Amino acid sequence: MPSSIIKNFTEAFSGVTNLFFPLYCASCNANISKKCFPVCSDCRESISYISGLEVFDDIACHEINGYFSIGLYEGVLKQLIAGFKYHKKTYLAPFFARELTERFKRCISFNINPLSNFDVIVPVPLHKSKLKTRGFNQSELLASEIGKITGLEVCADAVNRKKETREQNKLHYKERFKNVEDAFEINYKNICQIKSKNVIIIDDIITTAATVKSLARLFKKHGALDIFVLSAARTVAGAKTP
Ligand SMILES: [Zn+2]
Repeated sequence: MPSSIIKNFTEAFSGVTNLFFPLYCASCNANISKKCFPVCSDCRESISYISGLEVFDDIACHEINGYFSIGLYEGVLKQLIAGFKYHKKTYLAPFFARELTERFKRCISFNINPLSNFDVIVPVPLHKSKLKTRGFNQSELLASEIGKITGLEVCADAVNRKKETREQNKLHYKERFKNVEDAFEINYKNICQIKSKNVIIIDDIITTAATVKSLARLFKKHGALDIFVLSAARTVAGAKTP
C-alpha cells in the first residue's frame, strides 16, 4: 500500500479518535493532537526555558557540582507543576522527564559529566504523612521517568525524611534553611547505593535550594562523589554558568 494512503488513513483515524476521545492541553485546555499531548505548542513556546547548566553562587555549597532546570517557575511551567503536584496530573511526569533529559544533553560543560556517567538517581523524599495525603511523591515519579530514559538506577529509599517540614514556599529565605536542617536521615540498609557513587538528585522546584543542599551534604558525608541536581523549574536567583 502506498505510504501516502497509509498516512492519510492514519491522519483520518487519529481525527476520529480525537472526536471520541479528545485530548486537551494540560495548561490551556485547548483540544490537541496525540502527537502534541500533553502540552500544546503555544504553551510550550511560552515557557521561559533555561539554556545552560548552572551552579549555586554560594561559596558554602561545595557539595553540588551544578544543576539544571527546564525553565523558570512562572507562567505555563508553574501552572503545569501545580497541576502535576496538587491536581494529580501525574501523566505530566514523562513530559517533564523528556524535556529535562533532552535539554540537558544539549548543554556542554567541561565541569559536568553527561547523565550517562552518573550512577544513581535519588528523588527528594516526602515525609510519610505528606505522602499519605498526596498519594504520590512527585519527585519520585519524575525520577522514575528519567530512569526509564537514561537507564540509570533510581534509588528512592536511600534516604528518609524524618522531620515533617513546613512547605518551603510559605517561608522566608532564612527560615527555609532552618526548616530543612536535619530533615533527612540516611537509610543505612541502602548506603551502598550512595557510597562512592555519582548521584543525581531530583526535585520538582528549586527555590532557595535549601532542600537539595541539605540532602547533598548528607550524601557527601556518606561517601557520595559528584552530585548534580535536576529539577522541573527553578526560581533561585544568583545562579551562574560553570
Ligand atoms: Zn496549551
